Amino acid sequence: MKDVIINTIDSHADELTDLAAKIWNHPEMGWKETKAVEWTAQVLRDNGFETEVGAYDMPTCIRAVYGSGHPVVGFCAEYDCLPGLSQQLCSYQNPVVEGGDGHGCGHNLLGVGCLGACIALKEAMIRDNLPGTVVFYGCPAEEQLLGKGLMAKQGAFYECDFTIAWHPASSSHDTVGSHTGVEGLKVEFHGRTAHAAGAPYMGRSALDALQLMNIGVEFLREHVTDDVRMHYTITDGGLAPNIVPDYAAARYFIRALSRKATVDAYERVCRCAEGAATMTDTKAVITRLGGLYPTLQNHVIAEAIQEARAEVPLNTYTEEELKFADEINQKSPSYVPGKTLPLDYEDQTLRTDPVFGSTDYGDVEYICPGFQVNECTASSLSAGHSWMMTASSGHSIGMKGMLRAAKVMALGTYKLMKDPSRIEAAKEEFRTSLNGETYVCPIDDSIPWPYQ
Ligand SMILES: [Zn+2]
Repeated sequence: MKDVIINTIDSHADELTDLAAKIWNHPEMGWKETKAVEWTAQVLRDNGFETEVGAYDMPTCIRAVYGSGHPVVGFCAEYDCLPGLSQQLCSYQNPVVEGGDGHGCGHNLLGVGCLGACIALKEAMIRDNLPGTVVFYGCPAEEQLLGKGLMAKQGAFYECDFTIAWHPASSSHDTVGSHTGVEGLKVEFHGRTAHAAGAPYMGRSALDALQLMNIGVEFLREHVTDDVRMHYTITDGGLAPNIVPDYAAARYFIRALSRKATVDAYERVCRCAEGAATMTDTKAVITRLGGLYPTLQNHVIAEAIQEARAEVPLNTYTEEELKFADEINQKSPSYVPGKTLPLDYEDQTLRTDPVFGSTDYGDVEYICPGFQVNECTASSLSAGHSWMMTASSGHSIGMKGMLRAAKVMALGTYKLMKDPSRIEAAKEEFRTSLNGETYVCPIDDSIPWPYQ
């Protein structure tokens, strides 16, 4: 069946790469991915998937299905872009639109790779008369860390026996380590304005409060576990030096490798805000921006993916592609002439290292067993969320990685579907890992619905 899967994806390669290129050329921010959704849904329908656009009450969400009964396998696709990462197809920074949007996280490849895997898996199921259901979830706004949480709140993913996702990357090794979970918050301080020189004693500075809060956060760093990350930007700091600011605001992301540590650090940061307000005789207004779970990578699924990796041939690259990747790498401070690999695609290992970035796929992995695959789609020193990643994601090196990711995911999934005892083992591991904890959707009713 390996050959059926590989040949199916190869025979759809033009259709898939054309779609990924179209999405790359027309980057759309989260919640506004209307063209990407329209084009993706069309290919799903053309390939026999019963396709609903606007699933779970979100216009840029897709749920597409093939088959019936168990096992139910979900593929989590994304297609949103990032601000400020517009980039032409060249090996130096050169935006299409100055300050424009671009696919600096490779999500133009991510959704289409899942689509390729679904098409190949469907073909394998038909040939093998294999029962089960393949669900393609088109998930909006991953970069805003809310999409899958909102989908889960509307009931998505609970139908699955397991799910699979992948991410475009600067190397192909996978990890069973976790990504961090996140809690986001906005803090606004309200004080009283005054002439900063003439009558400062009349003022109550909101900016003083914000600075004192951040000093609290800086001291807090020493007293949290090593996995905690706290970062912020000041979005309002007053209007002019000679006016005591009566309003100041900042946004924070608090991350950790467990949901408990994330929430604990979030609550302590909130107390820094309250303490600063008390110190400065101002008022703090805290607005929670949402949250997501850390990932919970499943070892049983990882093993099937590793087997698939060993069977799907590695990509080969032309001189032009290697030169393109090397030129991008030269822009990185980590570049070592003659030593840096242009493309780190041969390393197929499974590691245990944590990843300190975050993905809303964590929410899905706390609902049922899941695994996120990595595949090399960019030069080895391409930073995530950078023009380098945008450039590679529109280039043939990105497309080749996407097609291989589709093959690895489809073959790994097929192996699990073929042997129900492995799916049971994945579920058993999932239950053990949760250790009695149950998923509580972090997108509560205080988070505004994005479409209003
Ligand atoms: Zn991403």
